[in-house]
Amino acid sequence: MNSNQCSFCGRKRSEVQMLISGQNGFICENCIEQAHLIVKDGGSKVEQSPAENIDELKKPKEIKEFLNGYVIGQDQAKKQLSIAVYNHYKRLLHAKNENREVELEKSNIIMIGETGTGKTLLAKTIARELNVPFCIVDATILTEAGYVGEDVESILSRLLMVADYDVEKAEKGIVFIDEIDKIARKSDNPSLTRDVSGEGVQQGLLKLLEGSIVNVPPQGGRKHPDQKYIQVNTQNILFIAGGAFDGIKEIIERRMNKQAIGFSSEKINKVDEDDYVLTNINAIDLRTFGLIPELLGRFPIITYLDKLTKEVMVRIMKEPKNSIVNQFVELFKMDNTKLEFTDGAIEKIVEETMEKGLGARGLRGTTEKVLEDYMFSIGEEKEIVLTEDNIFVKK
Ligand code: ADP
Repeated sequence: MNSNQCSFCGRKRSEVQMLISGQNGFICENCIEQAHLIVKDGGSKVEQSPAENIDELKKPKEIKEFLNGYVIGQDQAKKQLSIAVYNHYKRLLHAKNENREVELEKSNIIMIGETGTGKTLLAKTIARELNVPFCIVDATILTEAGYVGEDVESILSRLLMVADYDVEKAEKGIVFIDEIDKIARKSDNPSLTRDVSGEGVQQGLLKLLEGSIVNVPPQGGRKHPDQKYIQVNTQNILFIAGGAFDGIKEIIERRMNKQAIGFSSEKINKVDEDDYVLTNINAIDLRTFGLIPELLGRFPIITYLDKLTKEVMVRIMKEPKNSIVNQFVELFKMDNTKLEFTDGAIEKIVEETMEKGLGARGLRGTTEKVLEDYMFSIGEEKEIVLTEDNIFVKK
């Protein structure tokens, strides 16, 4: 028994206000509170659980419909993701059937798209819809075991944490691995000396993706040699990876020119060239980019996100349930101020944001800047109408 940490959540004495000792362990104030909530709710958690049978499971079209409420555009990615997620949870139900003769394999997903186009948002929204634990990890913080940085197992520590250390729940969760492109092998020449930052981490990730039982340190990291490991089976955890894959377009083009199939100049003229090239992405391109074949084998679904056009950015400002416009209107309403954005003002915000190259991620920052003075003197005006003429974007 470690008298220096909570036996439930593993928080250290220095991280909590109190540790109460029992016969076989300690409990901190956070866990007491949580336990109290559970008891108060009659022993059952208030939140919903994932679907238990196929009728409860939303069909791909319904999942996409749900995503439409939060993510604008990106139809192809939404469609592929909806199918993949539906099949994934169908697999979980199938695995419960003891007489099954066919084993259904998992299909993890890679999403390719520039920064701020909605990759994380898609993964997050889908996890919310399914009521499963969800966590985001940045592939760049991971290192091969034995090097400074976090071991790949720390990914599962995070999932466990969001699942309140309910292992069974965590085992059905979704993990979003961001910036997977940053752990690519630096050169596609495999005979090059191994680079620890890239290929080693990819090898490490394989272990998680392969569906094995992994020993997970509850706190992540390996700084607490005396902590007990928690065993997590990754077989049913869905991994969604995302990355910008800068330069992938050129790789696809090179391959397609080489193959010279279905890539006539006439076709390129018809559609927006960038998006057309991306629609042709496949595992060979990602391999050329520097992902190892074993890893790619574990990500059979490859999807891409479109570049955000001005029209889509305008819709992102207005349409999602918690759109930026709605959020600020709400914020001003609390001070009894009616805030209104004209279309002209929104367009101007979008234009400013597009110059920054942050994708839709920059919209909030631009809007904050635009409203800075109004927020500073909040309460002085009862009604504010933002137009293209009275908004002023400070650099
Ligand atoms: P990334 O592709 O880099 O993972 P994110 O999903 O984190 O981008 O997007 C950053 C923010 O930009 C989101 O939180 C959301 O507010 C907004 N956003 C990006 N793309 C979209 C989209 N297609 N629809 C609605 N909002 C979006």
